[in-house]
Amino acid sequence: MSLSAIRNWVFDMDGTLTVAVHDFAAIRVALGIPVEDDILTHLAALPADEAAAKHAWLLEHERELALASTPASGAVELVRELAGRGCRLGILTRNARELAHVTLEAIGLADCFALEDVLGRDEAVPKPSPDGLLKIAQAWAVAPSELVMVGDYRFDLDCGRAAGARTVLVNLPDNPWPELVDWHASDCRALRAMLG
Ligand SMILES: [Mg+2]
Repeated sequence: MSLSAIRNWVFDMDGTLTVAVHDFAAIRVALGIPVEDDILTHLAALPADEAAAKHAWLLEHERELALASTPASGAVELVRELAGRGCRLGILTRNARELAHVTLEAIGLADCFALEDVLGRDEAVPKPSPDGLLKIAQAWAVAPSELVMVGDYRFDLDCGRAAGARTVLVNLPDNPWPELVDWHASDCRALRAMLG
């Protein structure tokens, strides 16, 4: 299947549609999370009151980042091109849904994504689980193989593979995970050019 034949596009947000700004090392230090632990997995295993307090800190920290978001190179043009072609567009993020909206507003793409097609960490099991992608496929009434997952990190690709979707890696000059990637583009501008 050619990339231009795909009608159902799901994007990671941070670092894919935006310039990456999360300092995960600093977040781990602030929340007392070991370097080797996944942040969301670590928080999920804490006692409820501690988890709630740390999630609240994380939400406020990420809100400030969201308000200051800037679009990744070519991201706005790519999404508008796909919307113009009548493609279905969704977001699957490990960020919170409300902050995804703040971010999409900040980069000028909020009108391209329906509210129910933006899934955050509270609407689905976070990536690398395929849960969110499978929920989107079900909501759109398409087979997972008709979806493409676009992201900048291994979790996006693992999620796509586990769901049976196609995968696109963007915003890395090289492709460290060839076995997980169907298409690789150095940025969203290059990806748009690959649509023909
Ligand atoms: Mg990302």
